[in-house]
Amino acid sequence: MTHAHFLARRKRLLKAIGDGVAIVPTAPEVIRNRDAHHPYRFDSYFWYLTGFPEPEAVVVLIGGNGRTKAKSILFCREKHEEREIWDGYRYGPKAAKAAFGFDAAYSIEQLDKKLPELLVDRDALWHAIGHDAEWDARIAKALNAVRAQSRAGKRAPRAIHDLRAELDTMRLVKDGAEAAIQQRAADIASAGHARAMRACRPGMAEYELEAELTYEFRKRGADAHAYTPIVAGGANACVLHYVENNKLLNDHTLVLIDAGCEVEGYAADITRTFPVNGRFNAAQKDVYQIVLAAQDAAFAATAPGRHFMEAHDAAVRVLTQGLIDLKLLKGDLDNLIEKGDFRRFYMHRTGHWLGLDVHDAGEYKTGDQWTVLQPGMTVTVEPGLYIRPADDIPPALAGIGIRIEDDVRVTEFGDPRGCDIYTSAPKTVAEIEEVMRRD
Ligand code: CA
Repeated sequence: MTHAHFLARRKRLLKAIGDGVAIVPTAPEVIRNRDAHHPYRFDSYFWYLTGFPEPEAVVVLIGGNGRTKAKSILFCREKHEEREIWDGYRYGPKAAKAAFGFDAAYSIEQLDKKLPELLVDRDALWHAIGHDAEWDARIAKALNAVRAQSRAGKRAPRAIHDLRAELDTMRLVKDGAEAAIQQRAADIASAGHARAMRACRPGMAEYELEAELTYEFRKRGADAHAYTPIVAGGANACVLHYVENNKLLNDHTLVLIDAGCEVEGYAADITRTFPVNGRFNAAQKDVYQIVLAAQDAAFAATAPGRHFMEAHDAAVRVLTQGLIDLKLLKGDLDNLIEKGDFRRFYMHRTGHWLGLDVHDAGEYKTGDQWTVLQPGMTVTVEPGLYIRPADDIPPALAGIGIRIEDDVRVTEFGDPRGCDIYTSAPKTVAEIEEVMRRD
């Protein structure tokens, strides 16, 4: 993505805030233990507006009014020869201003001094209120510094708005440049899943498959896992957020892998479930085909103009009919759906927005209206069935947990496909058994 993209986003936001001032800090560095840090990850909102990768940075957007032109100002770390020898290159304000197209740039050290000046006689302040208590206090202090000058005729902003509402709406619809990055992330993540399938053998540990994914992600240039991967053998797949990944993979069981990589900040999010020994048995195949059919129904309901929950409703219908066919549920289909009996075996939603965050920004519902899908929105489609062992469950089905998850982009209106599937890891029974064939 070029700096022109980030500049265009700042311009768009500047228009939206009118005579206001928006303050967007990046994420802090986080200590892991003693003096070792977690790998650094920028704040998604800050990145969306700047593409600036360093910690200790803040962008302040000043809306245009009759007196001044709209401008964006970066506060970042100064150049520092010694720290750069230890920790690596820093842009410094001067180079950052030129390279990233800011109207001005200052040392982060000057932020607290400059903030009150920037807020004087402005209508509104825009910030992610409540996201970070330290930032809330910092901003309150800046506002009070302006108010203290009221006798000198200086006025503080009277309104404070949550900036996230504005930015979430922008982030929800992805443009072509974002789509290209998301496709790259999906390609790498898909290759990682295929690699894990090829490597899998009974008796291996779950973490060995995690290692295969990590290898493929990094080998192909992804920055990191986009979230903690789930590698769940057998009944561990029925624990939705299983991340221990430390048990052995047994013959004649399935393994569920939910893993995706991050590329230029954008997440891929894929789940595949496959037999540890490379061949589905009859019961596993029966359940798998139901989940696959549910996913197809959900794809068919994912199109511009349809609302967010239609894919879920379509998947639930197929899954519930499947549960009746498996004799796990008894009764009338519509009645079972209405009562929600399927929830014993399917307890999550069928999708979520996907982008810079794996559970991306954007409203799902406004009042009682589900969000209507628009071209460029990106969503996961991930039905599943989780049959926890219990007295009333036939042994052949007990402990089977299956989820199939792909990432899709809503197409333009009039495109008969409705959605484009980014992800391409082997998925049908035939594709999986083929890629896992041992001879
Ligand atoms: Ca997932």
